[in-house]
Amino acid sequence: MTDPIARKGLKKRFWEKKKLTQMSPEEWEALCDGCGKCCLNKLEDEDTGQVELTKVACRLFDDTTCRCAQYPIRHQFVPECIVLKPSNIDTHAYWMPKTCAYRLLAEGKPLYDWHPLISGTPDSVHDAGISMQHRTVAEFEVNEEDWEDYIIEEPI
Ligand code: SF4
Ligand code: SF4
Repeated sequence: MTDPIARKGLKKRFWEKKKLTQMSPEEWEALCDGCGKCCLNKLEDEDTGQVELTKVACRLFDDTTCRCAQYPIRHQFVPECIVLKPSNIDTHAYWMPKTCAYRLLAEGKPLYDWHPLISGTPDSVHDAGISMQHRTVAEFEVNEEDWEDYIIEEPI
């Protein structure tokens, strides 16, 4: 099998050699493991800043593919969807899922072995039980005041 990292033109283990701010757009995009957890609605304690993830997914999240159903035009429907960039990762890392590659690297931690950049297959994030594939409930099915009934533990 062709080495998926080489096929994408990415240097092996580039994330161990570069800071997030030094990464090319291709390297930055490749860091996303496809877990879908940043598409979950979150609850933040205003006093403590603690963030809890719920299994109530954004209205554009496709639970089968585990991806945004309208990614290129998502801001037409979800204007509040945050575009994560090297310049704002330090601001947003605290609410990102604990297994998110961007948060891990921003906190100086290594990626897990199930990360597709290490395993060589995007399926490993699902096989490891990390992703939200087939695990969410739709936003339109749950009132916002009931979201706390759907809080999930991390890592999931
Ligand atoms: S939580 Fe992080 S790794 Fe997972 S889909 Fe979102 S950006 Fe990608
Ligand atoms: S708009 Fe798309 S990328 Fe943004 S949170 Fe919703 S499903 Fe995820």
